[in-house]
Amino acid sequence: MKEHLFLYGPPASGKSTLGGILASRFNLQFSDLDGVIEAAAGKTIPEIFAEEGEQGFRRRELDALRNMVSQAPRVVALGGGALLAPEARKVAEERGIAVALDVPAETLRERAAKARGSRPLAADTAALDRLLEQRAAHYATFPRAASLSGYFTVEARGEHSRMFVGRGMLASAAAWLRTVGCSERVLVVSDTNAGPLYAEKLRDALNAGGFSAELFEFKAGEESKTLATVASIWNACLKAGLTRKDTIVSVGGGVVGDLSGFAAATWMRGIRWINVPTTLLAMVDSSFGGKTGCDLPEGKNLVGAFHQPELVLADTDVLATLPPREFRNGLAEAIKHSIISPDAFADVDCPRPEDSSNGDALSSFVAAAVSVKARIVASDPFEKTGERAKLNLGHTVGHAVEVLTGFRVSHGEAVAIGSVEEARLAERQGLAAAGFGNDIAARFAAAALPVALPKGLSFDDLVPVMMRDKKNSHGRIRYALPFAMGDVRLTSP
Ligand code: NAD
Repeated sequence: MKEHLFLYGPPASGKSTLGGILASRFNLQFSDLDGVIEAAAGKTIPEIFAEEGEQGFRRRELDALRNMVSQAPRVVALGGGALLAPEARKVAEERGIAVALDVPAETLRERAAKARGSRPLAADTAALDRLLEQRAAHYATFPRAASLSGYFTVEARGEHSRMFVGRGMLASAAAWLRTVGCSERVLVVSDTNAGPLYAEKLRDALNAGGFSAELFEFKAGEESKTLATVASIWNACLKAGLTRKDTIVSVGGGVVGDLSGFAAATWMRGIRWINVPTTLLAMVDSSFGGKTGCDLPEGKNLVGAFHQPELVLADTDVLATLPPREFRNGLAEAIKHSIISPDAFADVDCPRPEDSSNGDALSSFVAAAVSVKARIVASDPFEKTGERAKLNLGHTVGHAVEVLTGFRVSHGEAVAIGSVEEARLAERQGLAAAGFGNDIAARFAAAALPVALPKGLSFDDLVPVMMRDKKNSHGRIRYALPFAMGDVRLTSP
């Protein structure tokens, strides 16, 4: 994280609790502004209010905020009125991003009733109701989330990418877009499945929030991942009058993201791109990292460009509508991340295939998976050092399985089979401990993913296809091979 994340919102909205969780999960510093004020004053907040009035408290609050922004970036829980003054808001937004927590009034009242005595403005529920009414319009001007599980930044070749994982973010899309300075004109790109479910609402939310947004949808499916679809997106850019300072917002899975990201990379030699992934696979893998492009009849992803999305909003509420097979595809990539970096998953459980509407658990799981890829991409943004190639675990064998089954085995299924086969290969070569292949198989099988090569296909059958893999060197197949949990190496065994 290169900037502060300010958690804002009404009293009792859980800013301190969430801030503490986020900070400890991602090894960041955490500060509670009210706690800092109390420590500096040597008095409690109720005592400051009683002795100095709200005005006196706000003065102290602004001083503490100014002091805070000059320190190393951290997660900061703000008081419920800390950014009411335009001056305070400017101080915070110049050095970070302020997200307001959107918690139902009923929950706030329940929590406030329990907090009696410790917070002057939250203690009395009638006063809380009045305060919510007075401040509703103020909070509505901030990007909002019902909860957040992760916040990541990636920088590559001067391009800065920010990603949020959480719930309930899309209704305030207009405020989210303003955090990256989007101008008024926006083209929302989606497909015929994600469009009616999410992109139309998002376009409407943008228009209601002062943007001039248009929607372009193309037919869902990998078959659409062609140069012809890219050209149709360029055409939509033209019709919408998109200039160098305007924005493409992708709403969909990896196909929508890859195609519209490529259109954003190339329209007028590159315009701002925002990605709203709606599949689990796109959230944990394709939506960030900057790879965009399309297929050619001769092969997948042969044409493309690196272009970082300035903002990625992974809102796990949208996963509730995902078809089960697509959900399992995403689980496969996330399980692959857990083999590369098991530590990131220490305090989260792998969801079961039937958990696609369990937003909170999913959001923590997605954040864990994203943290693995974010760390790897940050260290090797253009796949130069071999570090990023670790993400190809399971893909060398997996790709051959996809090709030899005419893509009847889906990508996620192929990654599951590929990871198991590659672990067994490591075992055969004496590079991994006995039983490692079975251990890896159990992880994918628990997510109802296949773990054996399709009937009639042997490892030897895969070799001619794997010989064409772009990672190969000196005529030898190179795998991102798992030696043990947390130990994946680029190897030609
Ligand atoms: P996809 O985009 O085709 O989405 C899968 C299906 O789910 C589609 O039918 C889509 O319309 C539908 N859908 C999307 N969101 C939905 C929702 N919330 N509810 C209901 N239906 C929904 O496929 P994918 O698995 O998301 O992505 C695969 C693509 O990603 C491939 O083209 C692959 O090459 C690419 N990819 C890119 C990267 C990268 O780094 N850029 C990484 C991995 C994969």
